[in-house]
Amino acid sequence: MSNRVVQGRMVTPKRLAELVEGERPMEAEPIEDADRDCPDCGGNVLSVGYMPSVTEFVTAYKCQDCDWADTDR
Ligand SMILES: [Zn+2]
Repeated sequence: MSNRVVQGRMVTPKRLAELVEGERPMEAEPIEDADRDCPDCGGNVLSVGYMPSVTEFVTAYKCQDCDWADTDR
């Protein structure tokens, strides 16, 4: 299953990447559980790899319970 619930809403990998990036990516990999807790609320953190452009690959991290998000840029 690659769709996950984030802040009460079911999101696809592309939608999750869009939440973090601010724009819809060209491609996104399946959502995974990141091996870390949210620094703000201690909630579960998800990760998703995506391509905002043909030459870039970014891994985004997003808390399932609050607005916290980060990338590996
Ligand atoms: Zn959080």
